[in-house]
Amino acid sequence: MGTDGVAGEAQSRHWVYEREGKACRRCDTKVKRLVQGARSTYYCPECQRKR
Ligand SMILES: [Zn+2]
Repeated sequence: MGTDGVAGEAQSRHWVYEREGKACRRCDTKVKRLVQGARSTYYCPECQRKR
């Protein structure tokens, strides 16, 4: 685990940021929202799986 993993994660999030219910800008899959405490994370099931 290094800075590479963190950067990659932030980069993949860029495609789906605040796009819940809309299509991922990268692969056109519907974006989902994951609530973690006070903050929520947006993610694309498709891009996430390929990491
Ligand atoms: Zn995607």
